[in-house]
Amino acid sequence: MDYKQYIKSVMDFPTKGINFRDITSLLEDGKVYRSAIDELAQFARERQAEVIVGPEARGFVIGGPLAYALTTGFVPVRKPGKLPRDVVSVSYEKEYGTDQLCIHRQSIKPGQRMLVTDDLLATGGTIDATIKLVEQLGGKVVGVAFLIELTELSGRSLLKDYNVFSLIKY
Ligand code: IMP
Repeated sequence: MDYKQYIKSVMDFPTKGINFRDITSLLEDGKVYRSAIDELAQFARERQAEVIVGPEARGFVIGGPLAYALTTGFVPVRKPGKLPRDVVSVSYEKEYGTDQLCIHRQSIKPGQRMLVTDDLLATGGTIDATIKLVEQLGGKVVGVAFLIELTELSGRSLLKDYNVFSLIKY
């Protein structure tokens, strides 16, 4: 399937000079959305993933249906102050300043085979932080899956120790 025709590119969003890849237009088409999830699920199946993990917010839009397709659990990674139980957290560098992500401490069992997913790989900072949380809890990251990869930003180089799959490349 030619997924690119379903992604809208928006110049100068959210700031000048950024060419934002908008996945909401793909999500709006049920057949295309399902086909994309099915392809990511195939990768996850091959990696024998036992649990899916994704960062808010668009990681949920990919990770939730993936978990459903595979009959696995889904573990959310969230900004501080959102998860109600005991969490572990990690700080990571963003373009302007630092940010933090959190995961429930009890959400992963040591050795569990984890598939980490998000809508889009840019610099890799978000997914790298997510992986650090999973590994802090003893999870084994068996694969990393994205709908979109912005290859120019070389996020993949941060993920060289992992098995990475992306459906659409720019
Ligand atoms: P990274 O941490 O630099 O890899 O940025 C990836 C994160 O930023 C993901 O969670 C994306 O949802 C978001 N993101 C960055 N650029 C875009 C874009 O062009 N379209 C949609 N989301 C983006």
